[in-house]
Amino acid sequence: MMKFNTRAIHVGQSPEPGTGSVVVPVFQTSTFAQESPGKDKGYDYARTRNPTREALESCVASLESGKHGLAFASGMAAEDAILHLLRQGDEVVCTDDVYGGTYRLFERIFKKQGLHFKWVDSSSSEVIESEITERTKMVWIETPTNPLLKLTDLEVVVTRARQVGALSVVDNTFATPYFQRPIELGVDIVLHSTTKYIGGHSDVVGGVVVVNDSKLYKRLAFIQNSVGGVPGPWDAWLVLRGIKTLGIRMERHFKNALAAAQILQDHPKVRLVIYPWLPSHPQYELARKQMTGMSGMISIYLDTDLNGTKRFLESVRLFTLAESLGGVESLVEHPAIMTHASLPPEVREKLGIDDALVRLSVGIEDSGDLLDDLNKALKKV
Ligand code: PLP
Repeated sequence: MMKFNTRAIHVGQSPEPGTGSVVVPVFQTSTFAQESPGKDKGYDYARTRNPTREALESCVASLESGKHGLAFASGMAAEDAILHLLRQGDEVVCTDDVYGGTYRLFERIFKKQGLHFKWVDSSSSEVIESEITERTKMVWIETPTNPLLKLTDLEVVVTRARQVGALSVVDNTFATPYFQRPIELGVDIVLHSTTKYIGGHSDVVGGVVVVNDSKLYKRLAFIQNSVGGVPGPWDAWLVLRGIKTLGIRMERHFKNALAAAQILQDHPKVRLVIYPWLPSHPQYELARKQMTGMSGMISIYLDTDLNGTKRFLESVRLFTLAESLGGVESLVEHPAIMTHASLPPEVREKLGIDDALVRLSVGIEDSGDLLDDLNKALKKV
Protein backbone atom coordinates (compact mmCIF):
# COMPACT_ATOMS: atom_id res chain seq x y z
CA MET A 1 0.00 0.00 0.00
CA MET A 2 1.13 3.56 -0.70
CA LYS A 3 2.49 5.45 2.29
CA PHE A 4 0.76 8.33 4.11
CA ASN A 5 2.17 11.35 2.25
CA THR A 6 1.60 9.73 -1.14
CA ARG A 7 -2.01 8.92 -0.24
CA ALA A 8 -2.55 12.50 1.00
CA ILE A 9 -1.71 13.73 -2.49
CA HIS A 10 -3.19 10.99 -4.67
CA VAL A 11 -6.13 9.13 -3.11
CA GLY A 12 -9.39 10.34 -4.66
CA GLN A 13 -7.38 12.75 -6.79
CA SER A 14 -6.63 11.06 -10.12
CA PRO A 15 -6.61 13.47 -13.08
CA GLU A 16 -10.18 14.32 -14.07
CA PRO A 17 -11.10 11.99 -16.98
CA GLY A 18 -13.01 14.54 -19.09
CA THR A 19 -10.26 17.16 -19.36
CA GLY A 20 -7.13 15.74 -17.71
CA SER A 21 -7.25 18.45 -15.02
CA VAL A 22 -4.52 17.42 -12.56
CA VAL A 23 -6.28 19.08 -9.66
CA VAL A 24 -9.75 17.87 -8.65
CA PRO A 25 -12.17 20.47 -10.07
CA VAL A 26 -14.64 22.43 -7.95
CA PHE A 27 -17.92 20.94 -9.16
CA GLN A 28 -20.00 24.03 -8.47
CA THR A 29 -23.36 22.60 -9.40
CA SER A 30 -26.48 21.71 -7.48
CA THR A 31 -27.82 19.16 -9.93
CA PHE A 32 -26.71 16.73 -12.68
CA ALA A 33 -28.25 15.99 -16.09
CA GLN A 34 -30.03 12.66 -16.53
CA GLU A 35 -30.23 10.75 -19.81
CA SER A 36 -33.63 9.34 -19.02
CA PRO A 37 -35.62 9.51 -15.75
CA GLY A 38 -33.55 7.87 -13.01
CA LYS A 39 -30.62 7.20 -15.39
CA ASP A 40 -27.66 9.40 -14.47
CA LYS A 41 -23.86 9.17 -14.29
CA GLY A 42 -23.91 8.34 -10.58
CA TYR A 43 -24.78 11.85 -9.45
CA ASP A 44 -28.26 13.32 -9.25
CA TYR A 45 -28.35 16.07 -6.63
CA ALA A 46 -25.38 17.70 -4.86
CA ARG A 47 -26.62 17.31 -1.28
CA THR A 48 -26.51 13.56 -1.85
CA ARG A 49 -23.24 13.30 -3.78
CA ASN A 50 -20.76 15.80 -5.20
CA PRO A 51 -17.51 14.73 -6.91
CA THR A 52 -15.34 17.36 -5.16
CA ARG A 53 -16.69 16.32 -1.79
CA GLU A 54 -16.20 12.65 -2.65
CA ALA A 55 -12.53 13.23 -3.46
CA LEU A 56 -12.09 14.72 0.01
CA GLU A 57 -14.07 11.92 1.64
CA SER A 58 -12.03 9.13 0.11
CA CYS A 59 -8.72 10.86 0.83
CA VAL A 60 -9.44 11.41 4.54
CA ALA A 61 -10.83 7.87 4.86
CA SER A 62 -7.58 6.50 3.46
CA LEU A 63 -5.42 8.60 5.82
CA GLU A 64 -7.44 7.36 8.80
CA SER A 65 -7.11 3.73 7.60
CA GLY A 66 -10.89 3.55 7.16
CA LYS A 67 -12.97 2.43 4.19
CA HIS A 68 -15.51 5.28 4.09
CA GLY A 69 -15.49 9.02 4.70
CA LEU A 70 -18.29 11.56 4.97
CA ALA A 71 -17.61 15.30 4.85
CA PHE A 72 -19.70 17.87 6.69
CA ALA A 73 -20.11 21.63 6.82
CA SER A 74 -18.38 21.78 10.23
CA GLY A 75 -17.01 19.57 12.96
CA MET A 76 -20.25 20.16 14.86
CA ALA A 77 -22.35 18.98 11.88
CA ALA A 78 -20.21 15.81 11.84
CA GLU A 79 -20.88 15.28 15.55
CA ASP A 80 -24.59 15.91 15.05
CA ALA A 81 -24.74 13.20 12.37
CA ILE A 82 -23.03 10.67 14.66
CA LEU A 83 -25.44 11.37 17.52
CA HIS A 84 -28.36 10.84 15.16
CA LEU A 85 -27.38 7.15 15.13
CA LEU A 86 -28.87 6.97 18.63
CA ARG A 87 -32.45 6.96 19.84
CA GLN A 88 -34.35 8.28 22.84
CA GLY A 89 -33.18 6.78 26.12
CA ASP A 90 -29.72 5.77 24.88
CA GLU A 91 -26.73 6.40 27.12
CA VAL A 92 -23.47 7.95 25.92
CA VAL A 93 -20.34 7.79 28.05
CA CYS A 94 -18.13 10.79 27.23
CA THR A 95 -14.72 12.18 28.06
CA ASP A 96 -15.36 15.00 30.52
CA ASP A 97 -12.71 17.39 29.17
CA VAL A 98 -14.05 17.87 25.62
CA TYR A 99 -14.27 20.89 23.33
CA GLY A 100 -16.85 23.29 24.82
CA GLY A 101 -19.07 23.13 21.73
CA THR A 102 -19.28 19.34 22.02
CA TYR A 103 -20.46 19.71 25.61
CA ARG A 104 -23.03 22.30 24.47
CA LEU A 105 -24.35 20.10 21.63
CA PHE A 106 -24.78 17.12 23.95
CA GLU A 107 -26.17 18.89 27.02
CA ARG A 108 -28.24 21.66 25.41
CA ILE A 109 -29.52 19.98 22.23
CA PHE A 110 -29.42 16.18 22.43
CA LYS A 111 -30.32 15.89 26.11
CA LYS A 112 -33.68 17.45 25.20
CA GLN A 113 -34.15 14.67 22.65
CA GLY A 114 -33.84 12.11 25.44
CA LEU A 115 -30.19 11.01 25.21
CA HIS A 116 -28.31 10.53 28.49
CA PHE A 117 -24.73 11.74 28.79
CA LYS A 118 -22.38 10.42 31.45
CA TRP A 119 -19.27 12.63 31.69
CA VAL A 120 -16.29 10.68 32.97
CA ASP A 121 -12.54 11.04 33.34
CA SER A 122 -11.72 8.64 30.51
CA SER A 123 -7.98 9.12 31.08
CA SER A 124 -8.41 6.55 33.87
CA SER A 125 -8.73 2.99 32.57
CA GLU A 126 -10.51 1.94 35.80
CA VAL A 127 -13.14 4.62 35.15
CA ILE A 128 -13.59 3.34 31.58
CA GLU A 129 -14.02 -0.22 32.82
CA SER A 130 -16.57 0.71 35.47
CA GLU A 131 -18.56 3.50 33.78
CA ILE A 132 -19.18 1.74 30.46
CA THR A 133 -21.98 -0.70 31.24
CA GLU A 134 -24.63 -2.78 29.46
CA ARG A 135 -26.74 0.38 29.25
CA THR A 136 -24.07 2.26 27.26
CA LYS A 137 -24.78 2.60 23.54
CA MET A 138 -21.92 4.92 22.57
CA VAL A 139 -18.54 5.86 24.01
CA TRP A 140 -17.33 9.34 22.99
CA ILE A 141 -13.63 9.94 23.43
CA GLU A 142 -11.51 12.98 22.75
CA THR A 143 -7.79 12.18 22.98
CA PRO A 144 -5.76 14.31 23.47
CA THR A 145 -8.43 16.48 25.03
CA ASN A 146 -9.10 20.13 24.40
CA PRO A 147 -7.70 22.00 26.36
CA LEU A 148 -5.96 19.88 29.01
CA LEU A 149 -4.35 17.36 26.65
CA LYS A 150 -5.34 14.32 28.68
CA LEU A 151 -5.09 10.98 26.87
CA THR A 152 -7.39 7.98 26.87
CA ASP A 153 -6.12 4.46 26.30
CA LEU A 154 -7.99 3.50 23.14
CA GLU A 155 -7.26 -0.21 23.45
CA VAL A 156 -9.02 -0.25 26.81
CA VAL A 157 -11.98 1.67 25.35
CA VAL A 158 -12.34 -0.63 22.34
CA THR A 159 -12.20 -3.79 24.47
CA ARG A 160 -14.79 -2.51 26.95
CA ALA A 161 -17.11 -1.01 24.31
CA ARG A 162 -17.10 -4.30 22.39
CA GLN A 163 -17.92 -6.26 25.55
CA VAL A 164 -21.13 -4.27 26.00
CA GLY A 165 -21.92 -3.78 22.29
CA ALA A 166 -21.45 0.02 22.33
CA LEU A 167 -20.15 2.07 19.40
CA SER A 168 -16.78 3.73 20.05
CA VAL A 169 -16.17 7.23 18.69
CA VAL A 170 -12.91 9.21 18.74
CA ASP A 171 -12.55 12.92 18.04
CA ASN A 172 -9.08 12.84 16.47
CA THR A 173 -8.86 16.58 15.79
CA PHE A 174 -5.94 17.25 18.14
CA ALA A 175 -3.74 14.35 17.03
CA THR A 176 -4.57 14.09 13.29
CA PRO A 177 -4.21 10.78 11.41
CA TYR A 178 -0.54 11.61 10.90
CA PHE A 179 0.12 10.87 14.57
CA GLN A 180 -2.82 8.67 15.68
CA ARG A 181 -5.15 6.31 13.80
CA PRO A 182 -7.90 5.07 16.12
CA ILE A 183 -9.50 2.82 13.48
CA GLU A 184 -6.32 0.71 13.42
CA LEU A 185 -6.94 0.11 17.13
CA GLY A 186 -10.52 -1.04 16.48
CA VAL A 187 -12.44 2.21 17.06
CA ASP A 188 -15.73 2.32 15.09
CA ILE A 189 -16.02 6.01 14.20
CA VAL A 190 -13.40 8.77 13.88
CA LEU A 191 -14.31 12.40 13.47
CA HIS A 192 -12.48 15.64 12.84
CA SER A 193 -13.06 19.29 12.82
CA THR A 194 -11.23 19.73 9.49
CA THR A 195 -11.24 23.44 10.32
CA LYS A 196 -8.11 22.59 12.31
CA TYR A 197 -5.01 20.62 11.20
CA ILE A 198 -6.62 18.75 8.30
CA GLY A 199 -7.49 22.00 6.49
CA GLY A 200 -4.49 23.57 8.16
CA HIS A 201 -4.69 27.17 6.93
CA SER A 202 -7.43 28.76 9.08
CA ASP A 203 -9.42 29.57 5.94
CA VAL A 204 -12.32 27.09 6.03
CA VAL A 205 -14.75 25.46 8.47
CA GLY A 206 -15.47 21.76 7.98
CA GLY A 207 -15.86 18.33 9.50
CA VAL A 208 -15.41 14.71 8.53
CA VAL A 209 -16.44 11.27 9.78
CA VAL A 210 -14.55 8.06 8.92
CA VAL A 211 -15.71 4.47 9.46
CA ASN A 212 -14.68 1.00 8.32
CA ASP A 213 -17.99 -0.80 8.52
CA SER A 214 -20.13 -0.51 5.38
CA LYS A 215 -23.46 -0.83 7.20
CA LEU A 216 -22.51 1.95 9.59
CA TYR A 217 -21.40 4.04 6.62
CA LYS A 218 -24.79 3.56 4.95
CA ARG A 219 -26.63 4.65 8.09
CA LEU A 220 -24.44 7.74 8.38
CA ALA A 221 -24.76 8.57 4.66
CA PHE A 222 -28.53 8.34 5.06
CA ILE A 223 -28.37 10.79 7.99
CA GLN A 224 -26.00 13.08 6.06
CA ASN A 225 -28.37 13.22 3.10
CA SER A 226 -31.51 13.51 5.23
CA VAL A 227 -30.24 16.25 7.54
CA GLY A 228 -28.13 17.98 4.90
CA GLY A 229 -25.18 19.43 6.82
CA VAL A 230 -22.84 19.05 3.85
CA PRO A 231 -19.95 21.31 2.83
CA GLY A 232 -20.10 23.22 -0.44
CA PRO A 233 -17.66 22.16 -3.14
CA TRP A 234 -15.34 25.15 -2.59
CA ASP A 235 -14.95 24.31 1.08
CA ALA A 236 -14.38 20.63 0.30
CA TRP A 237 -11.75 21.68 -2.26
CA LEU A 238 -9.93 23.94 0.21
CA VAL A 239 -9.77 21.17 2.81
CA LEU A 240 -8.47 18.76 0.16
CA ARG A 241 -5.79 21.24 -0.85
CA GLY A 242 -4.76 21.56 2.79
CA ILE A 243 -4.49 17.79 3.20
CA LYS A 244 -1.77 17.49 0.57
CA THR A 245 0.73 19.03 3.01
CA LEU A 246 -0.66 17.49 6.22
CA GLY A 247 2.40 15.29 6.80
CA ILE A 248 5.06 17.97 6.41
CA ARG A 249 3.01 20.48 8.37
CA MET A 250 2.57 18.07 11.27
CA GLU A 251 6.31 17.29 11.40
CA ARG A 252 7.00 20.99 11.74
CA HIS A 253 4.19 21.66 14.25
CA PHE A 254 5.62 18.83 16.36
CA LYS A 255 9.19 20.12 16.20
CA ASN A 256 8.23 23.71 17.03
CA ALA A 257 5.83 22.73 19.81
CA LEU A 258 8.32 20.39 21.47
CA ALA A 259 10.97 23.15 21.43
CA ALA A 260 8.49 25.62 22.94
CA ALA A 261 7.29 23.13 25.57
CA GLN A 262 10.86 22.41 26.64
CA ILE A 263 11.72 26.11 27.03
CA LEU A 264 8.44 26.94 28.79
CA GLN A 265 8.80 24.19 31.37
CA ASP A 266 11.96 25.83 32.72
CA HIS A 267 10.54 29.35 32.69
CA PRO A 268 10.00 30.94 36.14
CA LYS A 269 6.71 32.60 35.07
CA VAL A 270 5.21 29.26 34.01
CA ARG A 271 3.79 27.00 36.73
CA LEU A 272 3.07 23.95 34.56
CA VAL A 273 3.44 22.91 30.93
CA ILE A 274 1.14 20.23 29.53
CA TYR A 275 2.43 18.55 26.38
CA PRO A 276 2.06 14.78 25.86
CA TRP A 277 5.56 14.48 24.42
CA LEU A 278 7.27 15.82 27.54
CA PRO A 279 8.39 13.06 29.91
CA SER A 280 6.74 15.12 32.68
CA HIS A 281 3.28 14.49 31.14
CA PRO A 282 1.52 11.94 33.38
CA GLN A 283 0.59 9.86 30.32
CA TYR A 284 3.86 10.11 28.44
CA GLU A 285 4.07 6.30 28.18
CA LEU A 286 0.56 6.06 26.73
CA ALA A 287 1.40 8.83 24.25
CA ARG A 288 4.39 6.78 23.04
CA LYS A 289 2.19 3.68 22.82
CA GLN A 290 -0.75 4.94 20.77
CA MET A 291 0.64 8.02 19.01
CA THR A 292 3.71 8.57 16.86
CA GLY A 293 4.09 12.26 17.70
CA MET A 294 2.05 15.24 18.79
CA SER A 295 0.55 18.28 17.12
CA GLY A 296 1.30 21.90 18.01
CA MET A 297 -1.09 22.09 20.97
CA ILE A 298 0.41 23.05 24.33
CA SER A 299 -1.42 24.15 27.45
CA ILE A 300 0.34 26.14 30.15
CA TYR A 301 -0.57 27.45 33.58
CA LEU A 302 1.08 30.82 34.14
CA ASP A 303 2.26 31.66 37.63
CA THR A 304 -0.08 34.65 37.93
CA ASP A 305 -3.70 35.83 38.22
CA LEU A 306 -6.21 36.84 35.53
CA ASN A 307 -4.60 40.27 35.07
CA GLY A 308 -1.16 38.77 34.59
CA THR A 309 -2.56 36.23 32.12
CA LYS A 310 -4.28 39.03 30.18
CA ARG A 311 -1.00 40.98 30.02
CA PHE A 312 0.67 37.92 28.50
CA LEU A 313 -2.14 37.46 25.96
CA GLU A 314 -2.07 41.15 25.02
CA SER A 315 1.73 41.20 24.66
CA VAL A 316 2.33 38.34 22.22
CA ARG A 317 2.94 39.58 18.69
CA LEU A 318 3.49 36.52 16.47
CA PHE A 319 1.02 34.36 18.38
CA THR A 320 -2.37 35.82 17.46
CA LEU A 321 -4.98 35.94 20.21
CA ALA A 322 -7.84 34.03 18.58
CA GLU A 323 -10.09 30.99 18.94
CA SER A 324 -9.40 27.89 16.85
CA LEU A 325 -6.14 26.05 16.26
CA GLY A 326 -4.22 23.89 13.86
CA GLY A 327 -3.37 26.47 11.20
CA VAL A 328 0.11 27.28 9.90
CA GLU A 329 0.15 30.48 11.98
CA SER A 330 0.59 30.38 15.74
CA LEU A 331 -2.45 31.20 17.85
CA VAL A 332 -2.99 31.62 21.56
CA GLU A 333 -6.20 31.71 23.58
CA HIS A 334 -7.71 31.76 27.05
CA PRO A 335 -10.00 28.69 27.38
CA ALA A 336 -11.98 29.94 30.40
CA ILE A 337 -13.07 33.16 28.63
CA MET A 338 -12.95 32.00 25.02
CA THR A 339 -13.30 28.41 23.70
CA HIS A 340 -14.67 26.84 26.88
CA ALA A 341 -17.00 29.62 28.04
CA SER A 342 -19.99 27.39 27.24
CA LEU A 343 -19.00 25.04 30.09
CA PRO A 344 -20.71 25.89 33.39
CA PRO A 345 -18.23 27.55 35.84
CA GLU A 346 -18.39 24.61 38.26
CA VAL A 347 -17.48 22.16 35.46
CA ARG A 348 -14.57 24.39 34.41
CA GLU A 349 -13.36 24.54 37.98
CA LYS A 350 -13.57 20.78 38.43
CA LEU A 351 -11.57 20.23 35.24
CA GLY A 352 -8.94 22.85 36.06
CA ILE A 353 -9.82 25.37 33.34
CA ASP A 354 -8.94 28.44 35.38
CA ASP A 355 -7.77 32.02 34.84
CA ALA A 356 -4.09 31.08 34.60
CA LEU A 357 -4.61 28.50 31.84
CA VAL A 358 -3.45 29.46 28.35
CA ARG A 359 -3.67 27.27 25.24
CA LEU A 360 -1.08 27.62 22.49
CA SER A 361 -1.45 26.37 18.94
CA VAL A 362 2.15 26.43 17.78
CA GLY A 363 2.38 27.10 14.05
CA ILE A 364 5.07 26.34 11.49
CA GLU A 365 6.92 29.68 11.55
CA ASP A 366 10.64 29.73 12.41
CA SER A 367 10.99 28.35 15.88
CA GLY A 368 13.43 31.02 17.12
CA ASP A 369 10.98 33.80 16.31
CA LEU A 370 8.19 32.01 18.18
CA LEU A 371 10.36 31.45 21.25
CA ASP A 372 11.43 35.14 21.24
CA ASP A 373 7.79 36.17 21.11
CA LEU A 374 6.86 33.95 24.06
CA ASN A 375 9.85 35.09 26.12
CA LYS A 376 9.09 38.78 25.52
CA ALA A 377 5.42 38.36 26.45
CA LEU A 378 6.29 36.36 29.58
CA LYS A 379 8.37 39.30 30.79
CA LYS A 380 5.09 41.28 30.99
CA VAL A 381 3.48 38.73 33.33
N1 PLP B 1 -13.80 18.90 18.07
C1 PLP B 1 -12.74 19.58 18.56
C2 PLP B 1 -11.69 18.86 19.32
C3 PLP B 1 -12.64 20.96 18.33
O1 PLP B 1 -11.59 21.63 18.82
C4 PLP B 1 -13.67 21.61 17.60
C5 PLP B 1 -13.63 23.06 17.35
O2 PLP B 1 -12.88 23.80 17.96
C6 PLP B 1 -14.76 20.86 17.13
C7 PLP B 1 -14.78 19.51 17.37
C8 PLP B 1 -15.89 21.51 16.38
O3 PLP B 1 -15.51 21.78 15.07
P1 PLP B 1 -16.06 23.01 14.17
O4 PLP B 1 -15.63 24.26 14.87
O5 PLP B 1 -15.37 22.77 12.86
O6 PLP B 1 -17.53 22.88 14.09
